[in-house]
Amino acid sequence: MADNGVKSGPEPSERTTIGITFGNSNSSIAHLVDDKAEVIANEDGDRQIPTILSYVDGDEYYGQQAKNFLVRNPKNTVAYFRDFLGKEFKSIDPTHNHASAHPQESGETVAFTIQDKEGEDAAPSTLSVSEVATRYLRRLVGSASEYLGKKVTSAVITVPTNFTDKQKAALIAAAAAADLEVLQLISEPVAAVLAYDGRAETKIEDKIVVVADLGGTRSDVTVLASRGGMYTILATAHDYEFAGFALDKVLMDHFAKEFMKKNSGASDPRENARSLAKLRLEAEATKRALSLGTNASFSVESLADGLDFASTINRLRYETIARTVFEGLNRLVGSAVKKAGLDVLDVDEVILSGGTSHTPRIAANLRYLFPQNTRILAPSTEPTAINPSELQARGAALQASLIQDYEAEDIDQSTHAAVTTVPHVTNAIGVISLNEAGEETFAPIVPPETAVPARRTVHLSAPNGGDVLVKVVEGNTHIKVTKPEPKAKENGDSKAAKVEDADDSDEDDSDFDDDEEEEEEKREKVWKIGSTLAEAAVKDVKKGGKVEVSITVNSDLSIIVTAREVGGKGGVRGTLTS
Ligand code: ATP
Ligand code: MG
Repeated sequence: MADNGVKSGPEPSERTTIGITFGNSNSSIAHLVDDKAEVIANEDGDRQIPTILSYVDGDEYYGQQAKNFLVRNPKNTVAYFRDFLGKEFKSIDPTHNHASAHPQESGETVAFTIQDKEGEDAAPSTLSVSEVATRYLRRLVGSASEYLGKKVTSAVITVPTNFTDKQKAALIAAAAAADLEVLQLISEPVAAVLAYDGRAETKIEDKIVVVADLGGTRSDVTVLASRGGMYTILATAHDYEFAGFALDKVLMDHFAKEFMKKNSGASDPRENARSLAKLRLEAEATKRALSLGTNASFSVESLADGLDFASTINRLRYETIARTVFEGLNRLVGSAVKKAGLDVLDVDEVILSGGTSHTPRIAANLRYLFPQNTRILAPSTEPTAINPSELQARGAALQASLIQDYEAEDIDQSTHAAVTTVPHVTNAIGVISLNEAGEETFAPIVPPETAVPARRTVHLSAPNGGDVLVKVVEGNTHIKVTKPEPKAKENGDSKAAKVEDADDSDEDDSDFDDDEEEEEEKREKVWKIGSTLAEAAVKDVKKGGKVEVSITVNSDLSIIVTAREVGGKGGVRGTLTS
């Protein structure tokens, strides 16, 4: 136990840990069962638990029950508050709080005034956003403890990549006030990657991954490099316009108009708070149903002016009216890849995360944006995909199990590098070898964006033996575009092709219609040999022997190259400063 007056958490051996994802719209809790992460259902049977608290006659409701009170008890219902943690009132966006308790300025932070006590004349309480977060986390942890049959003490919690240090500190403090030790905060996209990479069947390979986290009030896209199990964030992009809420709005407008058309003279349900709340809840339910089926119903009792309303919509119609939102999401993903200085051809994997990622159209559009060999991990494109709504909680639970045995003070140090931006090489480092045609080709040893320090070793075959020259060079990729010969007949053998460089082509990738693209140009990634870093001659290699080249990049980006004959003695070693 620490004796410095700072409240310390439980001893490692006494911890019960879970993973938590705490979103503006929904939260989830997960734990490990036989090395597999599993999301826990709360008392209501929900695995996606709305991040909402509601007070009725002094009783506190949370999750789906609280969400239902948005219709009858909006003033005493607090929703969409996570992003306000650690922020000043003047820097928050209260757009999503119109239909529930309004945020207000309170000293340095944001607060909500609600009636959380019993009795007509009890004075309302003003709760800081930290207090709201504490109460909500207490309920989440309570559900997890109930499920596990023992008190949960500690958690790894996910946060967006643009959460500030102040926001992180506020979250840790809010958790502490709920008697929850935060083992570590990890970024939401890294948690999503961990959920996939933590599966027993996944083999860890070097790859570029795009995580598209599409939620209710925000969409966040992150481009990461995974090298030897280390993750480096290369770029992030955030959007608060194109997200699940925008899709709800499309359906709300659609059905509100239909309602007024069917009932001439009836008032607009969007102009009355209670009608609007009903419209919103049902629109969201219809939207979710459209992710599974090709038809969905919409039905609200007493929508407006005491009139019931029932209708249906098919997926095609929905995809048409929501097209602007879908296009916006595609552009966001494309912009993040560009921001990382990469091309869609560089991307090995796209992980769709967040509730909105269930939408088949979104996955289909990304399928079209990326080349065929990029894996699009979404339920509608990949049968083995993990439920996008569960990725972050599962990743957090895996991380929690990895670090739960460490002393609190050691955790930050031991895992910091894996989940934050660390120094990395920009270009690939590799060797030049001759191909069959006698041309020099580049063989990467250390891939681009590898986090340093790093050490990689390869064996090069030396069929002819003798003195083998090893030339270590930098390499970078460029995109080779091959345009088909105009008027080339179908199946014609003439492969004559024009090759040109695709320097920053500005062409718009967000084109949805994959029809009528007769002249598909071929884009491929090729290596370009850059500057030479070192040359070494390994003498008297025997015929059919192998030369081992090993490259170490230190954290100051200086490089050590060694080359020797496998099984031979001696070798060459050189150091290069960065
Ligand atoms: P944010 O912080 O962006 O508000 P979140 O991370 O808390 O969101 P998520 O659960 O990831 O929340 O996403 C919530 C959104 O996902 C909501 O708009 C919800 O309607 C939507 N959603 C949930 N399930 C589905 C589904 N099956 N099909 C389409 N949309 C869905
Ligand atoms: Mg989210």
